[in-house]
Amino acid sequence: MTKPKAEGSAADFFPERKTLPAFRNAAADCKACDLWERGTQTVFGEGARRAEVVFVGEQPGNEEDLTGKPFVGPAGRLLGEALAEAGIDRAQTYVTNVVKHFKWEPRGKRRIHKKPNAREITACRPWLEAEIALVKPKVIVCLGATAAQALLGPKFRVSKQRGEFIESTLAPYIVATVHPSSILRAPDDENSSHRKATVHRRSETDCAHSFKDQIIPQKRFNTVRLTCICESLPRPLPEFADAQVV
Ligand code: SF4
Repeated sequence: MTKPKAEGSAADFFPERKTLPAFRNAAADCKACDLWERGTQTVFGEGARRAEVVFVGEQPGNEEDLTGKPFVGPAGRLLGEALAEAGIDRAQTYVTNVVKHFKWEPRGKRRIHKKPNAREITACRPWLEAEIALVKPKVIVCLGATAAQALLGPKFRVSKQRGEFIESTLAPYIVATVHPSSILRAPDDENSSHRKATVHRRSETDCAHSFKDQIIPQKRFNTVRLTCICESLPRPLPEFADAQVV
């Protein structure tokens, strides 16, 4: 007989005390969807209690699942490098995911990431909303389509709308960009084009920051759209530029 699917909501597991530590502890026991059985542990968000910027990814990966900490795997390290180059102290930000358990499927001895479905995203969303409500960021940066569509609606297209600052009830602004894992997955020749474009962009701008690893790849009519995380903060509202690949 097929096991019945969990139909709960993370809200069913909310603590009485509305503090981040209380929510983190409560989330550790969440069984609102079936993913708790697959992951090693709940991976709740981490970072500054009053962070101005909250980064939201899709779900924890293999290393995050094993350590219980968000964004500590290869993609998280790339994010950290990008923030450092932009002059942003990662410790002053807050990083989390739409879904708090690692969803994976076996491939040989490896655990391969599997995209969470709508049911799992809906069940887990109250944890994310609680984190945002407590941190009160000025801007939420969605990393990847899953996070963007969870917070900006299913019609949102990161490929077309990334970099747009959208007013929201969750925070003054939400902006979406690609997930750092997509940069890691990009073919070498594409990465090479991005780095060439980076040099080109830097030569034509007075931005003091390096764009290395912060560029947002978008192949479109032989151009690559570039932005810099430092420019992603709405002070002033950012300008985006398309640079010719050189
Ligand atoms: S993925 Fe989210 S809703 Fe599902 S069990 Fe884990 S914490 Fe709860």
